[in-house]
Amino acid sequence: MNANRRILFIVALMLIGLAVATITNVALNFREYGYNNAVEKSKMTAEIVRDGLTAHMVNGIMDKRNFFLSNIANIKDVKSLWIVRANNVVTQHGEGFQNELPRDAIDREVLKKGTMIREVTEDAKSAVLRVTIPYIATAYGSPNCLACHNAKEGDVLGAISMEFDINDVRQTGAMTIAKIFGINLLFIIIALWVTNYYFKPYMKLFENLQRGIKKARTGDFSFRFTTTLKDGGNEVAEEMNTLFEKLDETFENIKHDLSTFMTHSTSKYGDPLNAAGGIIKELSDVYKFKKTIELDSNKEEIYERFIYVLKDKFHFSHFSLYEVDKASKTRKLIYITNNKSFCFPSVDQNALECRAYRTNSDVYSTDFPNICQHCSSENKEYSCIPFNINDDLALIFSYSTHDLKTIEELNLTLASVKNYFEAAKAVIESRTLMDKLRDSSLRDGATGLYNRRFMEEFIDKSAEQAIRSHVSYSILMIDIDYFKMVNDTYGHDAGDIVIKSLGEILKSSVRKADLPIRYGGEEFLILLHNTTAEGSLEVAEKIRTHFSEMKYQFGSESVQKTLSIGISHFPSDADSIWKVIKFADLALYEAKHTGRNRVIEFKAEMFKGGDLF
Ligand code: GH3
Ligand code: MG
Ligand code: MG
Repeated sequence: MNANRRILFIVALMLIGLAVATITNVALNFREYGYNNAVEKSKMTAEIVRDGLTAHMVNGIMDKRNFFLSNIANIKDVKSLWIVRANNVVTQHGEGFQNELPRDAIDREVLKKGTMIREVTEDAKSAVLRVTIPYIATAYGSPNCLACHNAKEGDVLGAISMEFDINDVRQTGAMTIAKIFGINLLFIIIALWVTNYYFKPYMKLFENLQRGIKKARTGDFSFRFTTTLKDGGNEVAEEMNTLFEKLDETFENIKHDLSTFMTHSTSKYGDPLNAAGGIIKELSDVYKFKKTIELDSNKEEIYERFIYVLKDKFHFSHFSLYEVDKASKTRKLIYITNNKSFCFPSVDQNALECRAYRTNSDVYSTDFPNICQHCSSENKEYSCIPFNINDDLALIFSYSTHDLKTIEELNLTLASVKNYFEAAKAVIESRTLMDKLRDSSLRDGATGLYNRRFMEEFIDKSAEQAIRSHVSYSILMIDIDYFKMVNDTYGHDAGDIVIKSLGEILKSSVRKADLPIRYGGEEFLILLHNTTAEGSLEVAEKIRTHFSEMKYQFGSESVQKTLSIGISHFPSDADSIWKVIKFADLALYEAKHTGRNRVIEFKAEMFKGGDLF
């Protein structure tokens, strides 16, 4: 039931209640009034009859009383009238006329008790009031009853019975009630109409407001309020319309302004209010992500964070991330969830086989089955998304599912995922550039090995970490024997060739975890990761032998060179890495002084003490 109907219902209920109360009251009063009226009339008639009979008595014409009584009986509404004699009168004056005998139990009761009896007999058609009033003997009236009657004070001399037709009272009452009912009904109708007339527009406005506000709660401010009211209601509607228009416009502007921050606009939020809230939340998440990766130390850490976001925020459960080197057109796997790429292995060697990379556009298996010719999509749905980082680098993000519904849901989140990639793009780009720059400034151009500067930047951190994680390093300090002679005899270029060749020998002689460094002109240093003393001696001997077997052709001459190596161990020789390097140098010095072309391990006695730095 709407508000308007409810109000009308309440008003109607109140008025009907009032009408029922009024009608009941009138009906009861009317009945009481009609009844009392008839009783009064009967009392008066009884007195008239008594006085009339007394007059007949006094005048000695009692035998003519019938005429008088039949005239009395013609009084309006008197249906019938008779008088009865009490026993003492019968005894004294005889039985009187035939019709003066008691007719019923009421007559006898009144004669016996001397009190009036009233009784109403009603049915659908008629209503009769029967009144029987006793005549009581008294000496105090005029004439004195006891003067003629053999009776005592208070004895019953007789009674008069009358029947009054009170049907007209009842009919008049019914008519009155009908009129009151009619008037009430009319009043109720008018009252309801007036209520409806005045309340309906308010109720309509109220319902209007309810509907508008309900829509606004979902962020939709497009509702416009209408009313026929003039006395303030129209102002409310106008004010609300202005407010809604403003909110609508403001949120639309906010949504528009915010979406300019998002390269990939998302339509998933729907109405402007939700959209603004959603975009702000997403912006803030992307901003936090960007701020975090800006502080990450390298590209790998950024990728790791990316993978976390894809798993944790976007709930990708099967995906892979690839890096494409645009120069070599090769593709490298950065991460895969279940070690099973659905791309053919050949794609890694020729990135152009990757449709997403080649076309630089999103590839969806939902668009066309078997859309990429270079993957095995057995009962799988997949999407591959390329992200260009710069002229050197691109990323490929692929994900797959076993059912259509899931991939479609994931595809819907892509716009947001792309915002993260977009935010990371500049950071990855600058980090790649930095890595490149850093690599070039930390590497020796001739041999491609790390240089002394790298060593200086890297070594302290490595030493700390080595101590923390119980890692050891063996240090090989290498110097070519009589190298100056090569320069002097065959020229500087010949010297460079020998240095480069030694660099290659060093690279090929160590494992991935080891670190060969060009420490000075023709001096090299190798950090052997977690190697025993014997192991490091073996590596050193291998290098020494390999180098000594090399033959260099300078002009017509074939030249062979040797080198010397000093070895020390960190942290067993000293807890400072720089000290241990110095010890390797001392061992090298020992090798030079004991004949060169040899490997010497540091011994404590080689260190003569003193300040090392
Ligand atoms: P020793 O056995 O005592 O080591 O004798 P050495 O002649 O090798 O003596 P030293 O190690 O002091 O010689 C270093 C020489 O290496 C001096 C320098 O001219 C030469 N040199 C250093 N860097 C380069 C380089 O990059 N290219 C060339 N061609 N020569 C270099
Ligand atoms: Mg030297
Ligand atoms: Mg030398």
